[in-house]
Amino acid sequence: MFVGHYGPSFAIRAVRPEIPLWVLFVAAQLVDIAWVTLVLAGIEKVRIVAGITAANPLDLYYMPYTHSLVAALLWSIAAAVVCRLVFRWKGWGAAAWVGAAVLSHWVLDFLVHRPDLPLYGNTAKVGLGLWNYVGISLVLEVVVLLSGVWMYLAKTRGLTTVGRCGPMVFVVLMLAVQIATLVAPLPPSPATVAASGLGAYLAFAAVAGWIDRRRVPVGGVAGVS
Ligand SMILES: [Zn+2]
Repeated sequence: MFVGHYGPSFAIRAVRPEIPLWVLFVAAQLVDIAWVTLVLAGIEKVRIVAGITAANPLDLYYMPYTHSLVAALLWSIAAAVVCRLVFRWKGWGAAAWVGAAVLSHWVLDFLVHRPDLPLYGNTAKVGLGLWNYVGISLVLEVVVLLSGVWMYLAKTRGLTTVGRCGPMVFVVLMLAVQIATLVAPLPPSPATVAASGLGAYLAFAAVAGWIDRRRVPVGGVAGVS
């Protein structure tokens, strides 16, 4: 799962306007941002195996600290606590939604990954394997993303041209990047996969924040600056 992870980001932003969209973009990919970092550090392991799934060539054989269910729960709790402290939200409602965005990553990964997601440590691995069906997994990504975007567009309105047109242009861009990953040649190394993933996650979060600052809740008052 790649751009589909942002469906929950848009959906949660629609119901909790106090959470900046960029925070929810980082939250939805936090587990992968941690994975990229640990792969580059040589702590978690991945190798390129052509054809291991139809949609991507990653043999994710060791990722207990980011993609086990227990680890994802811990990342989720940590993100909720950090955001509660940093943003000084009243109560735990918004922080809990950030935690939910972090955990949504594992749930969506569970649908597409082959059984390489450990429940704990590096054992009891699960995954429904929809990546073995390129068409189905792509439709899933698009449906999850667009469902969230639809909620976001219904609950917010643009103040400027960027605010009004930005979301749809951005979605088209994200889908283009998604399709590019499907048709791209085999990556030369795990480090290349990790570095390009990190670049995409950070760029997407930055663009999301840039557009979102130009939209306000429907019927709401002042915008989020
Ligand atoms: Zn992941």
